This record gives sequence, structure tokens and C-alpha cells, in this order.
Amino acid sequence: MAKVSLLKQRAAADRIGRFGDYGGRYVPETLMAPLDELTRAYDKHRTKRAFKRRLTDLLQDYCGRPTPLYHAKRLSERLGGAQIYLKREDLLHTGAHKINNAVGQALLAVEMGKERVIAETGAGQHGVATATAAALLGLQCCVFMGSEDMRRQRLNVHRMRLLGAEVRPVESGSRTLKDATNEALRDWVTHVRNTHYIIGSVLGPNPFPRMVRDFHSVIGIEASRQLKKKIRRAYPDVAIACVGGGSNSIGLFSAFLDEPRTRLIGVEGGGRGQQLGDHAARFDGGTLGVLHGTRTLVLQDSDGQVMETHSVSAGLDYPAVGPEHVFLHDAGRVEYTSATDDEALAGFHLLAETEGILPALESSHAIAEVMERAPRLTSDKVVLVNLSGRGDKDVESILEEEEKRRAQGTEAEPPRPRPHGDPS
Ligand SMILES: *Cc1c(COP(=O)(O)O)cnc(C)c1O
Repeated sequence: MAKVSLLKQRAAADRIGRFGDYGGRYVPETLMAPLDELTRAYDKHRTKRAFKRRLTDLLQDYCGRPTPLYHAKRLSERLGGAQIYLKREDLLHTGAHKINNAVGQALLAVEMGKERVIAETGAGQHGVATATAAALLGLQCCVFMGSEDMRRQRLNVHRMRLLGAEVRPVESGSRTLKDATNEALRDWVTHVRNTHYIIGSVLGPNPFPRMVRDFHSVIGIEASRQLKKKIRRAYPDVAIACVGGGSNSIGLFSAFLDEPRTRLIGVEGGGRGQQLGDHAARFDGGTLGVLHGTRTLVLQDSDGQVMETHSVSAGLDYPAVGPEHVFLHDAGRVEYTSATDDEALAGFHLLAETEGILPALESSHAIAEVMERAPRLTSDKVVLVNLSGRGDKDVESILEEEEKRRAQGTEAEPPRPRPHGDPS
């Protein structure tokens, strides 16, 4: 088969604003002009020296880039196979990769002359990152959050308010992320003159999926450079990242898309089982549809009703996946799999005990996949894992989950490589 450069295909996709059959712009007429304005501004500034300089300076001096690439020797030894390297996005300011995008878009908002930014948030992580970037750049900030999520994530609500943001409760629908996103889009329509909407992942109408991806591509670029220094080759044999909307994963994968020696693996939230409603594995139960302005895989019923999803980690708990991921899946370039709640919890404990790192529950899904794959590889192979965030935010919910399991007598098995069905 002739090798087609995915990066060249991507450049073409970026120009038309869709990735094959996915992506695009499915929005009310009133949003077309603002999206055009945003596209023009982004395309103008993303290549400009002054903009790139300002962004790079903030990423370094404020956010803490470059993040380390860490050879997890004890974890590698414990699993008895490949050498595992962790890209430490968990060490960034505010505790996760999300700040890369929030600062990038906030800076663009300033360039566009906007005084106000808005955001949707589920667990509150993107809300905190946006409130942080807004405080940093002197922008007004309003974060839309389902009232159910506000109840579950009280600490992050306080954090946002301390940062000077208004947190606006959303009472419609299931009062979670999907409803908050609807409300944010509605607000943007009415206040577009002075407001920029900072979407939190590679979702939404064009140009958001490619813009958010670009702001996170620094993850893969740095990792490649760091690997080159450490192991004298700029690519791993396997790269693994968790997939919520898909921003940290695509940020990592972008650097290796045209490197056929690297296997790329995205891990979705497998939740508590395979039944629709019990998980957030869009590649395993999703069908084509439109959600929040983009055409992609959506967990929906046969009438097109968007389903409730479940994952132990709030950041993976969303019914749609970024459209470019569906394209990369169809192209056969990225493999998508899932880890269950229990497997993620086992991943969390294993990393904590072997390396002294508490990973975010989202990132623990990537660790769960490493537990399966590393033992099957020889010790000269290199597995690169994106540690998208830190687990401090999850300590309480992990305690609750495990108490629940003990009460039901369904305690998760102690960490061990799980049995697998795929033949690789
Ligand atoms: C939000 C979040 C995710 C999921 O979002 P992506 O867009 O898929 O990266 C993963 N990890 C952490 C720590 C998060 O906060």
C-alpha cells in the first residue's frame, strides 16, 4: 500500500474545515460569521512571530513547559517488558494539559480585542484552566456548569470563583457537561461582539478541533525531542493516551502521525460495562451524528437521543469524540480501546505504589493500557504514555468508589496485567 502522508492530508482537511466525513460546522446561522472571524484571526496569528513568542513565553514561564519526560524504571520492571516513559503534563500549572489550550485561546481572544471569555466545564478542570488564563490576561470570565456537576465538584467551583470567574449553574437536561455546552453556545451567540468561547477539547464546530489540537501539539513535539536526547531516536514504539474529547491524545499523537514505526493507541472510558449508558467508549457503541456543532461518533439511541454516559473519571465522561479521531480511526492510523473503571483504578494504584505519582483518573486509563501491553513487549521497546493530569483532584472520589466496592463485595482485583482478547 502506498504510504499517504497523514500530515499532508491534515493540511488539506484544515483548509476545508472537515476531516473526511467528520467535523464541519453544524451551527445556527448566527454563529457562521463569528466562526469565520475566529478562523481568520487564528490563521493570521498562529504563524505570526509575535504571537508565537508570547505564547511560548507564557507556556514556559507561567505554565511550566517543557514538562519532563520521565523514565518510569520501577513501573517498567514491575510489568516486566517494555521501557515506559511518562510525559509529565501532570506537572503543569493547574494540574493538567488543559492549560496549554486555555492560555493559547485566551491570548487569541486578546488579539481579537475581546474582553470576555466563556467556557463550558464538566468536572471543572477546563473551567479552572480558563479562569486561570482569564485572570492572567485580565479578561472577564464566565463558566457554564451543570448544577449537578457543581454539586459533585464543589472544590473546583470555589477555585474558579477565587480566580475571579463567574460560575453560572445550568439547570436544563441532565444538568451536566452536555447541557453546559449548549448554554455556552447560546451565550456566545448573544455576546459574540465582546466574547470569545474557549472550547475545552478538540470538539465543536470548525476551527475549534484543529485549533485546540494545535495548542496541544507541543506535547508530542517536546516528547519527540526528549526521546531523541534520552534514547537517541525521536519516536517510541508505542504511544498511549486517554481519550475524552481527545485533546491530550491528539497533542501527543500529532508528532508521530507520519512515523510508521510508532503504534498510536487511544484509551476511552469503558465505565462499568458494555451496555449503552454504562460507558463513554464512543468507538465501541457510538454512531455517526451531530453534537455541539460537529459531525462525529456520538453515543445515542436509535432515535438520535444523546445517551447519558458513565466513567469513573469525569474528564472522559462525554458522549462524543473529537471528529479528527474518527478520521484517524478510519485511516487505520490510531487504534482505540477502552479501560473499565476497575482497570483504571488498578492503574492508579500501580503508578502510585511503583513511582510515587498519583495520576488523574483520566490518565489512569492510559496506565491500565500500559499494564496490558508492556508485559508483551521486549525490554528494548519503548512505550510513551501521556500523563495528562495529576490525581489530587480524584483522591476523594477514589476513596468513595472503593468504599462502595467493599460494601458490595466487588472489590477490584489487585493490580496485575489483565487478560486480553486482541491478537497483537
Ligand atoms: C479533561 C481531561 C482529560 C480528557 O480530555 P481530552 O480532551 O481527551 O484530553 C484527560 N485527562 C485530564 C487530566 C483531564 O483533565
